[in-house]
Amino acid sequence: MYGILGGGDKKNTETERVRNERKRWALGGGLCALLFVMWLGGAVWRARHPRPAPAPPIAMPKPKPKGYQPEGIVFHHSETPGKVGKLIINASRINEIHKTSHPDWAREFEWKTYYIGYHYVILPNGSVEAGRPELCVGSHAKLHNNWLGICLVGAFSRHDRHKWEPSVPTTEQIDALVKLSVKMIRKYDIPLDHIKRHSDVWQTWCPGERFPYAEVMARIHLELSRPPTP
Ligand SMILES: [Zn+2]
Repeated sequence: MYGILGGGDKKNTETERVRNERKRWALGGGLCALLFVMWLGGAVWRARHPRPAPAPPIAMPKPKPKGYQPEGIVFHHSETPGKVGKLIINASRINEIHKTSHPDWAREFEWKTYYIGYHYVILPNGSVEAGRPELCVGSHAKLHNNWLGICLVGAFSRHDRHKWEPSVPTTEQIDALVKLSVKMIRKYDIPLDHIKRHSDVWQTWCPGERFPYAEVMARIHLELSRPPTP
C-alpha cells in the first residue's frame, strides 16, 4: 500500500515539476517577448524622432581669471601735504604711515606684507606708484576693499584744517588718474557704476569737494569710447 501510494506521489510530484518548469519557460519567454516589443517600440520611436543636430558652438566671452579680482575703483585723497620739508609723500611713505597708524590694515600677499591700504598712489607730478598688488584685497574703504583703492596725494576737502598743498588735484594727477582708471576698467571689466569716491561708499569727506569727480567720470567715458591704445 505504502509502495503504491509512494509511487503515485512520486509520479504526481514529477508531473508538477514538469508543469512548473514549463511555467517558468513560458514566463521567461513572455518576458523576453515583452522586452523585445519595448526595444522595438523604442527603435521605431527613435527612428521617427531623430535627435536634433548638435547646435554650433556659441562664441563665449573671454573667461575671467579665476579667483579674486577687483570689482570697482574707489578714489581717495591722502589728506596730507605733497611734501613735508624735503620729504615727499609717496607710496612708501604712506606704507610707513599706515604701518604705524593702522597696523591692523596689514595684509600679506605672496610672502610680502603690505601696510599701505591703497593699490595705487598718484603724486602731484602725475607719477603713479604701486601700493599693494591689484589682486591683494585692499584696506581703504570699509565694505569696498575688494575694489581698487587709488589715492591722490593732497588734501582736497574744505574740512582740512591744515590748508595743506596741493589743495586741489593737479592736472597731471587727474590725467594720470583717468589713464589708470581706464586701464583698470578694461583689464577687469569694471562697470562704470563701480567707480566711486570714498565719500560715496562711506561716511567720510574723502576725497574732498575739490576733487573733480564729474570731470573725471566724463573723461573716463570719453576715453572708453575710443579704441584702446597699445
Ligand atoms: Zn579715502
